[in-house]
Amino acid sequence: MSYAMVLCAALEGVTGHLVRVEADLAAGLPVVVLSGLPDTALNEARERVRAAITNSGERWPQQRISINLDPADLRKRGSAFDLPIALAILGGTGTLPLAGLADVLVLGELGLDGSVRPVRGVLPMVAAAAGQGIAKAIVPVGNAAEAALVPGMRVLAADTLGRVIGFLRGRCALLEPPEVAARRVGSEPDLADVAGQEMGRLGVELAAAGGHHLALFGPPGAGKTMLAQRLPSLLPRLDDEASLEVTALHSIAGVLAPGEPLLRRPPYQAPHHTASVAALVGGGSGLARPGALSLAHRGVLFLDEAPEFTRHALDTLRQPLEGGVVTLGRSRGVVVYPAQVQLVLAANPCPCARPSGDPGCACTPQVKRRYLGRISGPLLDRIDIRLTLPPLKASHLFTDASMREPSQVVAQRVAAARATAAARWAGLGARCNGEVPGTVLRQRRWRLPDDVTDGLRRRLDTGEMSARGHDRVLRMAWTLSDLAGLDRPGKDEINIALNLRDGGNA
Ligand SMILES: [Zn+2]
Repeated sequence: MSYAMVLCAALEGVTGHLVRVEADLAAGLPVVVLSGLPDTALNEARERVRAAITNSGERWPQQRISINLDPADLRKRGSAFDLPIALAILGGTGTLPLAGLADVLVLGELGLDGSVRPVRGVLPMVAAAAGQGIAKAIVPVGNAAEAALVPGMRVLAADTLGRVIGFLRGRCALLEPPEVAARRVGSEPDLADVAGQEMGRLGVELAAAGGHHLALFGPPGAGKTMLAQRLPSLLPRLDDEASLEVTALHSIAGVLAPGEPLLRRPPYQAPHHTASVAALVGGGSGLARPGALSLAHRGVLFLDEAPEFTRHALDTLRQPLEGGVVTLGRSRGVVVYPAQVQLVLAANPCPCARPSGDPGCACTPQVKRRYLGRISGPLLDRIDIRLTLPPLKASHLFTDASMREPSQVVAQRVAAARATAAARWAGLGARCNGEVPGTVLRQRRWRLPDDVTDGLRRRLDTGEMSARGHDRVLRMAWTLSDLAGLDRPGKDEINIALNLRDGGNA
């Protein structure tokens, strides 16, 4: 037999597709020809596969070897094809029976020594195979726990090519995936830990209830980071689909810890202001890594000391924030990763990071203005809630934490408000107020009476506020209305929403 086929998978964004790895051995010069749009990493596979096969004690065939990855029009990146290529070649020589691999997904990078090494993106690839009716997968031992998260999939783990060969010859067994550890409960930061900052607490509750972006200004130590860290604890748990999607993004980024269960809580990412644009939005050669923006998908992206980020980095965020996806330009084609995040920005009032009124601060009002001005207008325009937090007073620290509302209680109000909004906007392209299209807000059915919105319209007419800003105030007003249990927003909700947007609440 000179032809063999092994099933593998490739990723297109966060979606996996089955790939047939075919090997054909024929008389001729002993060369390896790869076809089916391989990227450079795949070309390197040639050398890894050759070394791994010989170092596993097998003979490298002195024949012309054609490897084809089918479908050809699907872009294939990364090193997950090594193991299937090696098995297909040995199958093609007739020395290795591949009957045991019919309808089995095989993934894995090979080391030159014949070891099977972990690859990124195993979860979405295995999930895609399961969706195609594949019920068994052989994956690197380092990825086995992750692959086992896919319901109904029988996962076998491989540590060496030699073991897989032995398994196919009926001489040894593959390894069992490790047990997935149950996540520790109660480890999430709780809103009850935040002393004082009543406005800040209200801000995160509103942000959670309506899916609004939030900016927190205030001196160091006021609790900006603490508040941002607690926003995920107010958001609803991820449903099955979202959970798989979020975990898949972490899998593709290679940041999923072994034994980590499916991510059920909205993620939280806080990239440092020195982070590269690639770390922020994604990039890299081969299989592009999702950046913090996509790792925060369905959760919270926190940018502390936002004015310290480069203008370029902040501008790069604008489009994804609007579209909910990040598009990475590649040498061949593009990669699109989901990126629906709630943004939380934080900034000190001045570049010296001293509290206002501190005698050591020599920053002039002009310097302070310029510092905050580094958060560009178009980005700030997308932020519905802008709060200036006062410095923390000593008395706040001595209030009993048990007297403060815990996340669980606030999360119940958030869930109720979200349910109201979801029911109202069902079929209109939104799950929460922050997502409602402007055209829907202005439909006759949802339009608010003129006497309620006159102040808002005046600002639009005088050019004081952009059309985008106008719609954002309306969305915020709906959130205030939902939390208050009202039928629809009145003048008060519009005024509070305007106030939140102005940041004139300190
Ligand atoms: Zn200063």
